[in-house]
Amino acid sequence: MKRRNFLKNSSLTAAGLVSASAMVACKTETKPEETVVAPAPVKPIKPIVVCTWNFLNATDKAWQVLKSGGSSLDAVEQGVMVEEADVTNETVGKGGRPDRDGNVTLDACIMDKDGNCGSVVCMQNIAHPVSVARKVMEETPHIILAGKGAEKFAYEQGFKKENLLTESTRKQYQEWLKTSKYETIINIENHDTIGMLAIDEKGDIAGACTTSGMAYKIAGRVGDSPIIGAGLFVDNEVGGATATGVGEEVIRTVGSFLIVELMRQGKSPQEACEEGVKRIMQKNKDRKDFQIGFLAINKNGETGGYCVHPGFTYREYSEKGHENKEVTSFYS
Ligand code: ASP
Repeated sequence: MKRRNFLKNSSLTAAGLVSASAMVACKTETKPEETVVAPAPVKPIKPIVVCTWNFLNATDKAWQVLKSGGSSLDAVEQGVMVEEADVTNETVGKGGRPDRDGNVTLDACIMDKDGNCGSVVCMQNIAHPVSVARKVMEETPHIILAGKGAEKFAYEQGFKKENLLTESTRKQYQEWLKTSKYETIINIENHDTIGMLAIDEKGDIAGACTTSGMAYKIAGRVGDSPIIGAGLFVDNEVGGATATGVGEEVIRTVGSFLIVELMRQGKSPQEACEEGVKRIMQKNKDRKDFQIGFLAINKNGETGGYCVHPGFTYREYSEKGHENKEVTSFYS
């Protein structure tokens, strides 16, 4: 936005200079000089929180944190924890669907206003991977911990061991074993990862993303959600972006980083998300078998989203109230 306004102003100024010199060169010219009015600065909307899909309770929780003066980092952590704890959400945290060997493995990451970040990948038996990711960020010199190492670190930090498979996901897995030929399901319905972005009263941006990944994935598979730059990216000077859908495609374009960089170059969150999806589709001409949804926010609190197939929505909560936003799609 700033750069666009700058370019607009520069060209208006240049036009002003040209018309002034034309008046000097030709004294008979009587046309009055154009007045250049500086555009009104965009007033940032704050606080605000957005998340992928229609997770009312998660945004509600994050909004409470923001409204009571809490930081965007606390808001996104506590917001996505609501979905991690909800066993009826079979794509995130406890109650997430297992890999093809029957183990629930979780991925999550978190990023703050200073570019600090933490991530856990392929971690079992811990219900709140986003909080472990935050501990990695705050308590270690590292950014990513994986598998058994992440789990061991979580116990050291006081997290308790839990069985993440529920009766429902265990039964579904047993059904899947009967018919699947041990093949991972990649389809456009396989989603519901929560990615959340927030701006607090100070105007600082943070984000978090958490998932159990693709259902019945090959053991050890990690998607985009815990990868900084792919499933999530925040730059406090510009904005933030997050993704849901088939992670392999998001990783190939470093999707969230791409979207933040496009916003830095002057695109709105909406335009940046559209360009992000188009880049993915350029590498997947005519492929219609996967869904991806991007969500972005800029420093002014403007938001946007775009997806491959219709159906992706995002939830937004600000002083203006809360809203479930339908987004347009590449294949409409
Ligand atoms: N992006 C996640 C992954 O690939 C899945 C999802 O959003 O449903 O692991």
